[in-house]
Amino acid sequence: MAPLRVVIAGGGIAAVEAVLALDDLAGDRARVELVAPEQRFVCRPHLVAEPFSLGSAVRIELSRLAGQHHAHSRRDALATVDPSAHAIRTRGGARLEYDALLIAIGARPVTAVDGALTFGDRPGREAFRVLLGELEGAERARVVFAVPAQARWSLPAYELALLSAAHLRARGVAGIEISLATHEPRPLELLGESAPEVVGELLAEAGIDLRLGSAPRRFEAGRLELQDGEMPADHVISLPALEVPGIDGIPQRAGGFIPTDGRLNVEGLTDVWAAGDATRFPIKQGGLAAQQADIAAQAIAVRAGAKTPISTFRPVLRAALLTGALPRYFRSALFAGYEEAASVSALWSPPTKLAGRYLGPYLSTMTHAGLGDEGAFVALEAPTSDDLAAEDQHQHLELEFALAAADADARVGNYAGALAWLRLVEELALVLPPAYRERREAWQRRRQHRQAGRDPAQ
Ligand SMILES: Cc1cc2nc3c(=O)[nH]c(=O)nc-3n(C[C@H](O)[C@H](O)[C@H](O)COP(=O)(O)OP(=O)(O)OC[C@H]3O[C@@H](n4cnc5c(N)ncnc54)[C@H](O)[C@@H]3O)c2cc1C
Repeated sequence: MAPLRVVIAGGGIAAVEAVLALDDLAGDRARVELVAPEQRFVCRPHLVAEPFSLGSAVRIELSRLAGQHHAHSRRDALATVDPSAHAIRTRGGARLEYDALLIAIGARPVTAVDGALTFGDRPGREAFRVLLGELEGAERARVVFAVPAQARWSLPAYELALLSAAHLRARGVAGIEISLATHEPRPLELLGESAPEVVGELLAEAGIDLRLGSAPRRFEAGRLELQDGEMPADHVISLPALEVPGIDGIPQRAGGFIPTDGRLNVEGLTDVWAAGDATRFPIKQGGLAAQQADIAAQAIAVRAGAKTPISTFRPVLRAALLTGALPRYFRSALFAGYEEAASVSALWSPPTKLAGRYLGPYLSTMTHAGLGDEGAFVALEAPTSDDLAAEDQHQHLELEFALAAADADARVGNYAGALAWLRLVEELALVLPPAYRERREAWQRRRQHRQAGRDPAQ
């Protein structure tokens, strides 16, 4: 039987998860063509750490990734779909025929709060980095992080607020008042019953004011207008709204989002699936994008002749919140009867920021958090004790121990040992403290020089 011709449009979380899943489920029964406008996959959940120099988002060459997994990548973009001819047209003018098409083109960020700095695309993130630098030298300022009504996945705003507070505190900057204004009735309530309490405490400890239940709308002349009322502000950083550009030949609803059924088939079309932020599912989260991609990949693998069950989308949210100290892990489901959890220890393994069945283990081999073994994605049990404070204390001690051990190894010239301790720190904290990022670079250089038989100190 000739291999099934599969076209995957996109180069983000859903598209890459689907490539990895199809390789596992269908192998050479499918011939996958990945069509994406950029050269590299960027793991967006890590982007919040970049302005604080806490880490950089993992970037992977799509051609390399495709080549490793029975796929081929084409630097182009989906322009139109002709469902009756089972063919797409690319922006570059190519016509590609498919037996199965997966649309995983994500959504583009647009301004939701006029006048605010939108933390979305690259210019917005760069403007935030510049603002952070200005705040380091400021005597006084009121900074508000805003979650507009359109942003159902609000976690990045909490991370930005907590990381900003920790960043400024570490530099001895005292006069900056940080607030978070959100439409949510309780902080991060999507992440389960205990999340609002845990997050509320973290914000209070960091001195961050919380304004709940009132969507931010526009920022002008030192005032942030809310759905009911207003608040004073010198700087407002808002999450974006999202929209999907029009693609001829596929159904699209308000905002351009693509309607699918519970198995990710695009409504009214055969052999066309969609996954990720581009779909009409209202919560735009990487873990959910990966879950959707897995289901679409199962269905496509079956079309290719593989024997694998096809699941129905039952969304489980797994989130790691960067806090400036140890991360917090959450697990909740958007259906009844699922056991929720909040913990300072990871609730999945490998403990990557993005929880994807295939992408998590793959990313783990790419980052310093990875211990080199791709392994399998495993859901972990929450600690039996519900005493978060004791667990927290334990994790802090482990972290301090690992940092001290890294320094001790480096002091006696054991750079390989020191770097292994730092990998453990990343397993615990997801990101390294800035001072240790610098030390890691120095230790890596020294180890390389030693391996080459030279000592840089000489
Ligand atoms: C700052 C920030 C922090 C976040 N934190 C988290 C987090 O902690 N945990 C989490 O799970 N999620 C998080 N998210 C959400 C998560 O990143 C998204 O939900 C996820 O990236 C969606 O995956 P996707 O594949 O649908 O879209 P994307 O990852 O956006 O990828 C879409 C891809 O399609 C490409 N494309 C666009 N148009 C076309 C076209 N016409 N043809 C072909 N390709 C096209 C794009 O170039 C891109 O490569 C965060 C998002 C942001 C911005």
